[in-house]
Amino acid sequence: MSEKLMTSTLPQGSTIGILGGGQLGRMTALAAARLGYQYHIFCQSPDEPAAQIAHNKTIASFEDMVALKSFAETVDLVTLEFENIPLSSFKYLESIIEVRPNSHALSISQDRVKEKNFISDLGIEVAPFRSVNNAADLNSMLTELGTPSILKTARMGYDGKGQIRIDKESQTQEAWNASGACNDTGGAILEGLINFEREISVISARGSNGDIVSYIPVENIHKNHILNKTIAPAPISPEQVENAMQISHCLIENLKLIGLLAVEMFITKDGRLLVNEIAPRPHNSGHWTLDACAISQFDLLIRALCGLPLGSVKRSANATMQNLIGDNINDWQDYLLDPTAHLHIYGKSKARKGRKMGHVTWISSIT
Ligand code: AMP
Repeated sequence: MSEKLMTSTLPQGSTIGILGGGQLGRMTALAAARLGYQYHIFCQSPDEPAAQIAHNKTIASFEDMVALKSFAETVDLVTLEFENIPLSSFKYLESIIEVRPNSHALSISQDRVKEKNFISDLGIEVAPFRSVNNAADLNSMLTELGTPSILKTARMGYDGKGQIRIDKESQTQEAWNASGACNDTGGAILEGLINFEREISVISARGSNGDIVSYIPVENIHKNHILNKTIAPAPISPEQVENAMQISHCLIENLKLIGLLAVEMFITKDGRLLVNEIAPRPHNSGHWTLDACAISQFDLLIRALCGLPLGSVKRSANATMQNLIGDNINDWQDYLLDPTAHLHIYGKSKARKGRKMGHVTWISSIT
């Protein structure tokens, strides 16, 4: 651990190393700057949203140990903005510098089978699931779980990538070939399809002294497996709010991570909460906090990382966040005259299909 971190608060002017150059890294960097910290972005291309705003950056592969070592030498602690950093690289950094979150939390969130086992071992409900390593496995697991179900690659999947819905057992070989899991040494997970009433998420933070705070649960509406809209607060009962916050609290405590944890959940038609996925980093469903809370999820992350008081995560307004995906970004000027709209653009040059280009948040007073 660096000398600066031996005290409980990272001194002003210290440098936070951020692994990943996407929009989450960009907004984390802006929050770091606002609190008087320097930041250094480690990513693979100078065009990435966070690299664009970084004076200190390393452009290299996440497997480049020499680059990782010199990066570690110039920063005071390391965090990440996306999960798909090779675990061996992350562990290497952890052996030479303070890394938050810890590699245990990262290893769980990188592998859907590990993740589901970890969550259900804590007594928290998840969709029925089976680990699948080949087409023959898939056949027998489909008989156990039944259809419809979803086959997902265990690793490297995001925004619905590597996911196939299976409606008939006769689709087994075809689904296995199409899933991407057939090429991926990490295997796959088969999950029962949940006929949910809604999807929600909770973002919690844990500080270096073990304090935990959570934003209220929000509702997430997906389109083509990609988050389209977040509504804050989620229209759910006080018991469901309490239950969702307790689940998130239990998970972040058991992961012992310092930083943020986003927990995505399904609410079933009969009111049960099932955890779908966790992410030890800022999350798209927390972008509304930039405009509707005094302390955004990015500020909160910096506070947690640097040993600062976490502060209040109360909202000052209700919010609806809409992602601007692909060509939707072309309408950006429409939002500028709307006094309730807050526009955030990530600076990506090409608006490819499914690519998150920015978001807009509308706020309204709490009635
Ligand atoms: P994921 O990558 O696991 O977050 O999945 C992306 C989206 O696909 C989720 O937000 C859901 O809308 C849908 N989905 C994933 N898994 C399931 C499931 N087991 N049952 C129903 N819908 C699912």
